[in-house]
Amino acid sequence: MGMDLVLLGPPGSGKGTQAAILSEKYRIPAISTGDVLRAQVDAGTPLGKRVKAYLDRGELVPDSLVVDLIQHRLSDPDTQQGFILDGFPRTVPQAEALDGMLAALDRPLDAVLYLQVDPQAVRERLGQRHRGDDLQGVIDHRLEVFLQQTAPLISYYQAQGKLKLIDGAQPPEAVAASIDEVIRRLAGSANGSSRTPSRS
Ligand code: ADP
Repeated sequence: MGMDLVLLGPPGSGKGTQAAILSEKYRIPAISTGDVLRAQVDAGTPLGKRVKAYLDRGELVPDSLVVDLIQHRLSDPDTQQGFILDGFPRTVPQAEALDGMLAALDRPLDAVLYLQVDPQAVRERLGQRHRGDDLQGVIDHRLEVFLQQTAPLISYYQAQGKLKLIDGAQPPEAVAASIDEVIRRLAGSANGSSRTPSRS
């Protein structure tokens, strides 16, 4: 069965960790917009230079830029059997763009896994990490940006009946087990279902 998943949650909620676990388990690519953007920065391309300014400030890069990146990435053949999006969508316009892309491919999202971790725990986790944008002031700003621009996606996907809440405060293996359970239930209820034959 193909599986198209989105991992949603505040910075430091463990999306990257869970994306890697899921990717290995289901043999589908994990696509991290953060990684894709940092790769552009490291490559020193003109685009990378523009992107760096946003990352350093803890601001989101413009929707059109990430939407293009994702659209391009989702046209790669390795996404045929499914994908895990980590860090996309992060705004309502991004979510709408994703819905549009997937509708055109006749492959709606299977689920949006929301990793719930309270802001204080997230702040502590990020404070221990050593990425360029993990400085305290930038962390606080990223959390604000999350609340303002990304948290609205919780009700967006709730309205679609796609949102699955996962307790992200548990240790990584326990989070993975909770996700497994959600996916098992999805597979159970999907029996013979809404999938088009071409993707079975
Ligand atoms: P974290 O979830 O810990 O913030 P990410 O690697 O997912 O880490 O994101 C790092 C930064 O990359 C964000 O603060 C933002 O500047 C940029 N970014 C990542 N994904 C997106 C996106 N979908 N839209 C806009 N900016 C993004």
